[in-house]
Amino acid sequence: VMNKAIAGTRDILPEDIQKWTYLENLVHTTMNNFNYKEIRTPIFEETRLFKRSIGEATDIVSKEMYTFIDRSETSITLKPEMTASVVRALLEHSLDKQQQLNKLYYIAPMFRQERPQAGRFRQFHQFGAEVLGSTSPLLDTEIIIIAYRIFQNLGLKNFSLKINSLGIPASRDKYKNLLRDYLSDKIETLSDDSKQRLDTNILRLFDSKDERDKAIMEQAPLLLDHLDEESKEHFESVKEILDGADIPYEVDPKLVRGLDYYTHTTFEIVSGSVGAQSALCGGGRYDLLVKEIGERDVPGVGFAAGIERILLACENEGVLPKIENKIDYYVVRLNKELSNEVFEIASNLRSKNQSVEIDYSLRSVKAQMREANRLGAVKVLMVGGEEFERGKAALKDMCTGEQAEVEISEFMKK
Ligand code: AMP
Repeated sequence: VMNKAIAGTRDILPEDIQKWTYLENLVHTTMNNFNYKEIRTPIFEETRLFKRSIGEATDIVSKEMYTFIDRSETSITLKPEMTASVVRALLEHSLDKQQQLNKLYYIAPMFRQERPQAGRFRQFHQFGAEVLGSTSPLLDTEIIIIAYRIFQNLGLKNFSLKINSLGIPASRDKYKNLLRDYLSDKIETLSDDSKQRLDTNILRLFDSKDERDKAIMEQAPLLLDHLDEESKEHFESVKEILDGADIPYEVDPKLVRGLDYYTHTTFEIVSGSVGAQSALCGGGRYDLLVKEIGERDVPGVGFAAGIERILLACENEGVLPKIENKIDYYVVRLNKELSNEVFEIASNLRSKNQSVEIDYSLRSVKAQMREANRLGAVKVLMVGGEEFERGKAALKDMCTGEQAEVEISEFMKK
């Protein structure tokens, strides 16, 4: 039986690559405009890094990580997200001591063992950014704006931004008690999942898809109404700066997100064009994560965006520019014995940065011309006959159909 790619993984074929590089180029350009520097980290890390940072009670750590024991008995995990790795690298190389503020970005594959479905893969790709070393609400907002601008520049229209604040742990812990009190006489009605989360990750009850849970959480007290002064102020600043940047948003007090390490701002950008898995990106501030991993006090804020979903949204909204496949030259061999000469002429053009194709299988002139057309050759150079003996070749412009004689040696010099 022929092997197939594992469920939830995908080949990205040459016909799809242009979309990917188009998006990647836009990411590089935008990040460069905001002065973010690219970082690449290994595809796997020690498992405990993710357990410690993402949190044992999260879906990612409790049921989605690709974890295995390698031949030297170390527990390894394919990275399910990037923040932990970026923080690890920052600490390991003391980037935080070399400069106060580190603005970093990445494009990388991530791995999570989720149930494969539309918009949900086991190997997927994210781009994202992490800013380490500042608590300024300007940077919470900058992070949101970068993601927003990239979606806008892709031409996407059908997306919206939701923001919320999770405050600081002191006010959050107080609020969690309030939520626990509210739920105390409703526990029996909760779904099994939610019952479990009561002790481990109570905020996640707001994410439940269960109808009875939803009805209960509809009436629940909201963290946003119980923020301390500092957190309120931070959130107000973020909103003000977003207003100033003309970025529309909706405050969603039920947006809690899955990860333990968030403080203050959390946000999500959702698309109306991709079906159920609608989150294109998510992020937030994580002022306590670095201390958790490395006992150094470095505040952070970041986002991660899913490339597969973004490209799906682009496709469904029909916004990606149609890039035509073209090559600069096709060199046609008029006589069969000139294979090596044609090969050499092509190599020469290629070394001058032209994209060039030739025939490798002694096909007829007609077949070569057909191939030149299929490949979208802008020009065809015809090599052979008595012209070749005079050191010349015919150059045909495939657009106008015009044909001219060129001196091969002169032509190569250009
Ligand atoms: P998260 O780290 O879960 O907040 O994910 C950030 C973004 O990555 C999401 O908004 C999605 O666009 C994308 N994403 C997360 N998980 C998957 C997955 N299994 N397959 C495809 N995209 C994903």
